[in-house]
Amino acid sequence: MKLKKANSGRLKRLDRLHVWHPFTRMREWVESDPVIIERGEGCHLIDTEGRRYLDGASSLWVIVHGHRKKTIDEAIKKQLDKIAHSTLLGLSNVPSIELAEKLVTLAPKGLTRVFYSDDGSTAVESALKMAFHYSKARDKNTRKEKFLAFTGAYHGDTLGGMSVGEIDVFVERYRPLLFKALRAPYPYCYRCPVKKKYPDCKIACLDKLKDILERRGPEIAACIIEPLMEGAAGMISAPPGFLKGVRRLTEKYGVLLIADCVATGFGRTGAMFACEHEGVSPDLMCLAKGMTGGYLPLAATLSTERIYRAFLGTVKDPDAFYHGHTYTGNPLGCAAALANIRIFEKERVLEKMHPKVRLLERLLNEFRSLGHVGDVRQRGLMAGVELVKDKKMKEPYPFQLRIGHRVCLSARDKGVIVRPLGDTIVIMPPLSITAGELKMLAGVIRDSIEEVTGQEVCEE
Ligand SMILES: *Cc1c(COP(=O)(O)O)cnc(C)c1O
Repeated sequence: MKLKKANSGRLKRLDRLHVWHPFTRMREWVESDPVIIERGEGCHLIDTEGRRYLDGASSLWVIVHGHRKKTIDEAIKKQLDKIAHSTLLGLSNVPSIELAEKLVTLAPKGLTRVFYSDDGSTAVESALKMAFHYSKARDKNTRKEKFLAFTGAYHGDTLGGMSVGEIDVFVERYRPLLFKALRAPYPYCYRCPVKKKYPDCKIACLDKLKDILERRGPEIAACIIEPLMEGAAGMISAPPGFLKGVRRLTEKYGVLLIADCVATGFGRTGAMFACEHEGVSPDLMCLAKGMTGGYLPLAATLSTERIYRAFLGTVKDPDAFYHGHTYTGNPLGCAAALANIRIFEKERVLEKMHPKVRLLERLLNEFRSLGHVGDVRQRGLMAGVELVKDKKMKEPYPFQLRIGHRVCLSARDKGVIVRPLGDTIVIMPPLSITAGELKMLAGVIRDSIEEVTGQEVCEE
């Protein structure tokens, strides 16, 4: 144990010296006492000092069947004995072919082609470029050069993804670098035009979308949406039928629909892909986060045959999608993804999820009575608990108080890792979480909320 502590101290020193953490105020980070994860086991993370934590954030929304899942471990090892990497440029490889076939059988009807990349942002970037190029390939003189996206959207951190995204704290500094997207309101989002309840909000948002499509449709290459749930916006849950309405309108006005299922894919919402809940088939679908069960960076953009065919060009004038990343179709990643999908089938993961989803619903319902819980939103095993200063007036906490951050630190002291999005505590456990673990997760978060928001009242 002593040796362990000494080594932990060394790693902490080196981390402060050399590691630049993502989305992190490094000024604060270097003053903090970082937790350094050394091992994982099921739904738990174990740090360099031997402390255990429940992974309530699925290591940033990626872990599906838990850490060190035997089937995935073995699939990677088996692939490693053959080859770790070979390119898809000018060659093909075994697991990338097997996985493409598998994804097509699982995906909403009509998606027949799989374009690989490395993470959510690159999957989105590929979809945006595909949609743009597709419009040009179909009609040289097309005016379809714009994208339509939703308020509160998050589509990754590359310049294209940020351009269609709209979370000010992430985007504002880079605004001059970004292209301007048209914006339609996402129901219940912080800028929703009608702060009324369902179905008014849904109808108003779809009316606004229709209005934009009617006026600007001929200029719009594609509309991009996070189906069912805007994740990074703070788990904003769209009302039933909204996605279907968006699909109907985009189809009517000849605008492609890109479904960014990066967060909502691979079971999180209770279906394999969120679009299934409303029987929607998009023209392009982006997958990443849970794709390898949380093991390796791998992503895919799925497209319809119609889009794919437009890139063939003609015999005299052949065309191509001039886009690709070095690790495209990495065999280790694809082998992990195949194992991930096999587990869904073999262990009937989606079926077994239902009682857990209902349990989480019950547990979160109890949160509503807490003095500073403004809202609770859940879809499958994706949930957000929004904390507010004044419940009646829906008045948020002052930003500087960083209440969400403090609640998560308090939870960490109690052995639970969760992360806030502003003052919304995100609860996104691995699908393999047990009922007992789910109860512990909710209990700790509840205690932490009471502790931190209780203090706040005292200070005033
Ligand atoms: C996380 C996320 C992305 C970006 O994925 P990265 O792998 O972080 O690049 C894109 N879209 C959505 C909806 C996401 O949740």
